[in-house]
Amino acid sequence: MNHFPVFLALEGRRVLVVGGGDAAVAKLRLLLKTTAHVNVVAESPAPEIEAWAAEGRLALHRRTQTPGDALCCPIAYAASEDAALDAATLRMAAADGALVNVVDDLENSQFITPAIVDRNPVTVAIGTEGTAPVLARKIKAELEAALPPATGTLARVAKGFRKLADALPFGAPRRRFWAEYYDTAGPRAVERGEDVAATLHALLDEHLAAEARPGHVDLVGAGPGDPELLTLKARRALDRADVVIHDRLVPAAILELARREATIVEAGKTGFGPSMPQESINALMVRHAARGAHVVRLKGGDPAVFGRLDEEIEALDAAGLSWSVVPGITAASAAVAAIGQSLTKRRRNASVRLLTAHDMEGFVDHDWRALARPGEVAGIYMGLRAARWMQGRLLMHGAAPDTPVTVVENAARPEQRVRAATLATLAEAAGDAAGPALILFGLAPRGRAEAPAMEVAL
Ligand code: SAH
Repeated sequence: MNHFPVFLALEGRRVLVVGGGDAAVAKLRLLLKTTAHVNVVAESPAPEIEAWAAEGRLALHRRTQTPGDALCCPIAYAASEDAALDAATLRMAAADGALVNVVDDLENSQFITPAIVDRNPVTVAIGTEGTAPVLARKIKAELEAALPPATGTLARVAKGFRKLADALPFGAPRRRFWAEYYDTAGPRAVERGEDVAATLHALLDEHLAAEARPGHVDLVGAGPGDPELLTLKARRALDRADVVIHDRLVPAAILELARREATIVEAGKTGFGPSMPQESINALMVRHAARGAHVVRLKGGDPAVFGRLDEEIEALDAAGLSWSVVPGITAASAAVAAIGQSLTKRRRNASVRLLTAHDMEGFVDHDWRALARPGEVAGIYMGLRAARWMQGRLLMHGAAPDTPVTVVENAARPEQRVRAATLATLAEAAGDAAGPALILFGLAPRGRAEAPAMEVAL
């Protein structure tokens, strides 16, 4: 970088332009946007320059240049379009202590004027060190299009609010406030012709009120995956969320319902594979809520079913944070709905087990003998890998090999698949399931009670 970009404070300072033709006029157009005292030395100035002088916008000296013209000028322009005259300006102005730009003469110039995108007070300066003026113009055109005309207004109004906004805690809360102003609230006010300062006041009040509220965590059940199976409470929590921390089981269609400004964090917990340790998830919730955020901890199904809910609540209690639980539809409910069966049924089973055959420590033992009795029903979570082992346990404890078993994969999602099997064929039926699957022990799809292992298109 041969040329170091700076923004010069010109308020109340003198700037000299020597020359009265087109080159001088072009530079003057820029300089007159500043608060500098602009001095022009020209023997025969163009009419524009005469007019500006008449309006009192610049001081016009109708004469040849003399030493001392650039005294107290931080910068001077040699813009006479005459090499000998420009060389004289360079010599004299430099002797007066000014930095000199010789228009269209990169080599002799001590500084160059960049291409400018002007959204006063927001100014973007583009320089290519004279290498690529066409590129500079292209970049300028792109920036002109990208920066809405209201940018300057928004920045100007914001300036008066910097002190007031200091009432918000430094860091994320302040950043969130300004981001909302520049991204949505500000442009909307300009577009609707509303008072931008009043909008900013209201927005600041809103953010201050939000800061005063202590953070809160909603432990929300997202249901099995169909957005329509969310509760109204879950939707409302998502609408208001500042931060959403979700399991991998929660599909994109549901995350899209979160407030647009919400930070979405995946805490991948699928039971197997890489996942965020529970302690990190707890710490994440606590960190955000302690800063006043409304956190939604979004879990597949119901948070109270194989959801490690208690560990998360304990962490929140330990941090003195408030929380509430929003129940969701658990996978077992979605799975029986998919096959048109009930979890309980008069004279068949008056109780139902929700069990997992596999947890982080390995296979989980149960009272298999009790489950092996005719008519018993269980919804088995995270059961695919343990299917063969479970099958062995149940058969060993006297369960009939033809006990109906149904594997419901991706219940309540577009990819839902139902495999009707029996205890004898459970391992094979579970073997080719890929997505999350619930094994319904003791239940067959309605109307297929006698069907052997086969896939049912529902
Ligand atoms: N809290 C969740 C369960 C989490 S454990 C709930 O209430 O549903 C994860 C297990 O849930 C998966 O291994 C799978 O057995 C089951 N599961 C979750 N979503 C499912 C879905 N859409 N279809 C089938 N099984 C699902």
